Amino acid sequence: MRQINFHPGIATAFALLFLSAPVADSVAFAGRADGRLDLYFIDSEGGGSLLIVTPLGESVLVDSGYPGAGHRDRDRILHVVKDVAKLDHIDHSVATHWHLDHFVNLPAVAACVRIDHFWDRGIPDPLPKNKRFRQQIADYRAVTRNQSRRLKAGDVLPLRSGSPPLKMWFIAGSREVIPNQGPPNPFAHLHRPKPEDKSDNADSLCFLLTVGRFKFLHCADLTWNIEAKLVTPNNPLGQVDLFMVTHHGLPLSNNPVLVWAVDPRVAIMCNGPTKGGHPDVIRTLRQAKSLQALYQLHRNINLPDDEQAAPELIANKEPTERCRGVFIKVSVAQDGGTYTVQIGEKGRPRLYRTRWILGRTQRRSTH
Ligand SMILES: [Zn+2]
Repeated sequence: MRQINFHPGIATAFALLFLSAPVADSVAFAGRADGRLDLYFIDSEGGGSLLIVTPLGESVLVDSGYPGAGHRDRDRILHVVKDVAKLDHIDHSVATHWHLDHFVNLPAVAACVRIDHFWDRGIPDPLPKNKRFRQQIADYRAVTRNQSRRLKAGDVLPLRSGSPPLKMWFIAGSREVIPNQGPPNPFAHLHRPKPEDKSDNADSLCFLLTVGRFKFLHCADLTWNIEAKLVTPNNPLGQVDLFMVTHHGLPLSNNPVLVWAVDPRVAIMCNGPTKGGHPDVIRTLRQAKSLQALYQLHRNINLPDDEQAAPELIANKEPTERCRGVFIKVSVAQDGGTYTVQIGEKGRPRLYRTRWILGRTQRRSTH
């Protein structure tokens, strides 16, 4: 095993010292074709919900949180869509897989805001006998007018692309992955298979979103062995700037052979107060060579503070019953060269540079 190469406090200090600065243009609104790529990680207490607004103002809702709880997650999503991003509709919905915290709340959201196109990994055929699931799929079919379209590994979502180009490229889905091309993964030999995961997590749709040189990896709830399938023996993904920690930070996912291969600079974990945020995953992240900042949507209330993200990088610290559901926003500059991360509407944006810009700066400084 590799050694931990820095303490999280040092990593945070490094990020603050070299990369953080108040950014005047961070309040620019998405949805107005403002040239920025905006990502809103919406808190659903350990579910999945991400709103993407492209530089040309198109929007994609990836998963829709949990149903019920007094429409808690529906209202949090609608607040971000309408009040923060100022959208009057959503162009695309992507359901990554068929679990409660990812697709079942979609009908409630779609009842309140127009959604034009629906995408998923394909509805299972035949459906399992579970009555609740059959009803959930019936509700999904009703809201999508039974016209959702299937995405598979290798597909690209049809979004308008400007300059620099934007691409939302699906790299895994239904246990299939893109061809294993690219340079050898130096961590491939560390893969230790786990028993086969027969759940729908292993079928998750995963994507790489790029604008210019900026790269964001979202693997939904993909689990251990399929993560390895994706990046061994070769790494077709390269290194990324931003990584959504997979599966809410649960240790069934976040195989080091993937995390260390993609070597993120910033990671955001969509965990809940008692779901995900597992110490094994945090340990894996801290061993990634380039990680400069780990953000969490929630403080893990069962872990001491020094075993999770720095307090100023945690969006919500309260237990669920008192939680206000603060989101984390990432906003990527028009040229893809820098991006900011801020907590909530009033949080101070911290500035980060893409790997490419950083590498170029470092190369220059050595001449
Ligand atoms: Zn999940």
